[in-house]
Amino acid sequence: MSPFEYAPAPESRAIVDIASSYGLFINGEFINGAGTAYKTINPATEEVLSEIAEGSSADIDLAVKAARRAYAKVWSKMPAAERGKYLYRIARIMQERAREFAVLETLNNGKPIRESRDIDVPLAAAHFFYHAGWADKLEHAGLGSAPKPHGVVGQIIPWNFPLLMLSWKVAPALATGNTVVLKPAETTPLTALLFADVCRQAGLPPGVVNIVTGAGATGAALVSHPDVNKIAFTGSTKVGKAIAREIVGTKKSVTLELGGKGANIVFDDAPMDETIEGIVNGIFFNQGHVCCAGSRLLIQENVHEEVLERLRHRMSQLRVGDPMDKNTDVGAINSAAQLGRITELATAGDNEGAQRWSTPCDLPTKGFWYAPTIFTGVTQAHRIAREEIFGPVLSVLTFRTPAEAIEKANNTPYGLSAGVWTDKGSRLLWTAARLRAGVVWGNTFNRFDPTSPFGGYKESGWGREGGRHGLAAYLKQGEQA
Ligand code: NAP
Ligand code: MG
Repeated sequence: MSPFEYAPAPESRAIVDIASSYGLFINGEFINGAGTAYKTINPATEEVLSEIAEGSSADIDLAVKAARRAYAKVWSKMPAAERGKYLYRIARIMQERAREFAVLETLNNGKPIRESRDIDVPLAAAHFFYHAGWADKLEHAGLGSAPKPHGVVGQIIPWNFPLLMLSWKVAPALATGNTVVLKPAETTPLTALLFADVCRQAGLPPGVVNIVTGAGATGAALVSHPDVNKIAFTGSTKVGKAIAREIVGTKKSVTLELGGKGANIVFDDAPMDETIEGIVNGIFFNQGHVCCAGSRLLIQENVHEEVLERLRHRMSQLRVGDPMDKNTDVGAINSAAQLGRITELATAGDNEGAQRWSTPCDLPTKGFWYAPTIFTGVTQAHRIAREEIFGPVLSVLTFRTPAEAIEKANNTPYGLSAGVWTDKGSRLLWTAARLRAGVVWGNTFNRFDPTSPFGGYKESGWGREGGRHGLAAYLKQGEQA
């Protein structure tokens, strides 16, 4: 290991101005909710950042009414090209305020500033730019000659990419002419509230976007509201199933983006340096709080030892700690509850006989932290091979033949993502064609682009987000129209 040491390179938080409390953004204004307030914290330090309103079902009703009015009176009547202008304006303001968004995201989520600055925020703006372009071209999207919006859309997002998941939801909904009530995750409301300010700055008509903060009950009230036409949900498979049960038999449309247990398959001819980077990016990006993480590493047996040796060496160089430091690679776990889930599953790995190895690193004493960890000797029956850990923990399995790799990769209730590492294009395509996963990355991992549809097979969800496929989910089709 090199003796080279990094000096601290902290990003300043002076650019953000966090209020001591926030209300709900309904009909273009911040109002006091009917519910009680709760505290939102910085998971890296446990410092209280602000007090957040917990939206009640009465608040959800107000927001849905505002969205309905805005839909009927303004948004559905506006020429599509005008709608597009608002989206361009939002995209440009997000770029102008990118540093503010990045710092706030890192403070509230715990992810490294390098990621929020270089990945989350630029991609969020890119989603608005991409969908701005679609607003007046929908009849040329191959989705019918006069596709119609659903009306009022309820959107519920998780805490792992708060601003990015907001943009995946809000941008296509507005481009296709719907109005929105969005519920951010309980632990990460701050960038959604800053986005509310961006909507005001862009002059977006009141009620087109409404943001109601709160916890699970607030989300459930949105799902069951009778005047919501479509639900778009990203989160756990458990809550996704509950939502599906709740709306079955109603006229509501639904898309579900749920969990995953992605296989990252390494063949013996894989370009080794790139592969090691891809494995690390696949599982340690965003502390492994990634639904499409490459959390099951499948290594061809004859290169197993070599891959593991190189992987441990590379992992030893990961910098774990202060998310606001520009050199940090792995930040804080988002909440005490998530840390508890990671710890519980990793302990199950020990108890079921897998071998644990973690990077040697000093973890901060305050906040929620987990050292990057791999388990070897994992079998397909182990819980850590089957259940989503949603943290910086990698399960390593082996295979001998391509057919065995496919069989093991597909042996999961999930089907969101997979990766294939090989020098041969033909082998890459042969493998990709046999994987039951919504996204298959070839010699790369965790690449996202607004033009590319994203979503899952099996228990990973229903429907796609992004690209032309994502537009379809926000438009009525066939006899619905
Ligand atoms: P979660 O508990 O399902 O929460 C997701 C969102 O739903 C949060 O806003 C949550 O509020 C809300 N919610 C909770 N219970 C609800 C209910 N009964 N009705 C309506 N809404 C409800 O998931 P999480 O633990 O926050 O997020 C991690 C999970 O999300 C992982 O399984 C991950 O794979 C999945 N995920 C999937 C994707 C994808 O695109 N496929 C992307 C990111 C994450 P609270 O915040 O108060 O719990
Ligand atoms: Mg939750």
